[in-house]
Amino acid sequence: MKLPGDKAQHLILRDQQVISPSYPRGYPFVMDHGKGVYVWDVDGNRFLDFAAGIAVNSTGHSHPDVVKAIQEQAEKFIHISSDFYHAKWIELAEYLNRIAPFKEDAVIFQTNSGTESVESALKLARYHTGRTQFIAFMGGFHGRTYGSVTLTASKAKYHHGFYPLMNGVTHVPFPDPYRPILQTNPSEDIGDATIRYIEELFIHMLPPQDVAGIIIEPIQGEGGYVVPPQTFLPQLRELCNRYGILLIADEVQSGVGRTGKWWAIENFDVEPDIVTSAKGIASGMPLGAMIARKSITTWPKGAHGNTYGGNPLACVAGLETLRLIENGYMKNAAEVGTYCLLKLADLQSNHPSIGVVRGIGLMIGIEFVENRESRKPAEQLRDIIVDKAFELGLLTLGCGTSTIRVSPPLCITREEIDAGLAILDQAITFAEKNGS
Ligand code: PMP
Repeated sequence: MKLPGDKAQHLILRDQQVISPSYPRGYPFVMDHGKGVYVWDVDGNRFLDFAAGIAVNSTGHSHPDVVKAIQEQAEKFIHISSDFYHAKWIELAEYLNRIAPFKEDAVIFQTNSGTESVESALKLARYHTGRTQFIAFMGGFHGRTYGSVTLTASKAKYHHGFYPLMNGVTHVPFPDPYRPILQTNPSEDIGDATIRYIEELFIHMLPPQDVAGIIIEPIQGEGGYVVPPQTFLPQLRELCNRYGILLIADEVQSGVGRTGKWWAIENFDVEPDIVTSAKGIASGMPLGAMIARKSITTWPKGAHGNTYGGNPLACVAGLETLRLIENGYMKNAAEVGTYCLLKLADLQSNHPSIGVVRGIGLMIGIEFVENRESRKPAEQLRDIIVDKAFELGLLTLGCGTSTIRVSPPLCITREEIDAGLAILDQAITFAEKNGS
């Protein structure tokens, strides 16, 4: 197919005149409509969607139940503001309380995006603890507003030109088993070494009694879909307990069923103090949530708020999404995700450029390398694969330096995974022949 088609090309030219050039656009996909795991561009070309709008369209594109809920709500009322009450908002918060990854009751602050959920977590953590400092991880992504962008450390360009950032954040290496930054002692793994590094920080420069929270993506998203060693998060929890530090799990990308459990942190048997959510929680309506333990939600009336908190369209979309995920898609994510990992192991054995495949459920990263010995990231090769896959009818997104993420809607079938991987196979073959 000719991409971009004539209509797409025309729209892209108009876009370039009036839309901020800061958006990180990749290849020229101009959406017309979507259904399930397929999307169509304005020239009538169909694509299988392994990107899901950055892991957002969890129930597929325009699921009829979600559409119906939004339509019905829109006819009743679209907005009343967070100064008042309504049933769907309460129902959504009750639902999130029930599925929160800790035994204690949860209190929900509803937001409009991931970054706003993270900002809310930072403010609550400072307010509740009376402490000022945070620890975040290299490779992490938490958003682009001033507090969250300070935490973000996946690419230096997110900071360039924007200093000074928020005061009070110290970054430590993320325990990436494939690319460990820290050296391990005998009998340690990279998770143990990371805990030891944080303890060193506490001794030499960062008094733990000043640390309000440690914020971590249980599986790093934008940083490359990186899964930490199994014992790392339990150790981090223990460290937080020891010093009275809040553990904040940023589940904006990893949460809401994507890994086969409601929250990725549950794969590691750890209970955080705060969870930040957005993306997949409402199938594409702008909804986020900060979910905090009741005992720490000590801020008083008026301390924090927002105009659109409790937005009813977002609430009903969120409720339908959670129901659909609970009634089947979460189980599907686990099963189809395991199947996809097996198929990717085959793909890896045929393609020397695949350094490692990792993930849980339908949060899977395929990392490309120049060769398996040096593990040098093959960024350009990855970009060629993403572009070629698009030409062949598959939407994917890169992450990290040289990784492609597999983050399709959670309703995807094995057959659709096979179809997508067949395209990816062709695209990788093309890139290995023609790429650098
Ligand atoms: N946290 C994580 C883990 C994310 O992946 C993202 C978005 N990629 C954000 C926060 C920010 O979300 P938003 O773009 O909705 O502000």
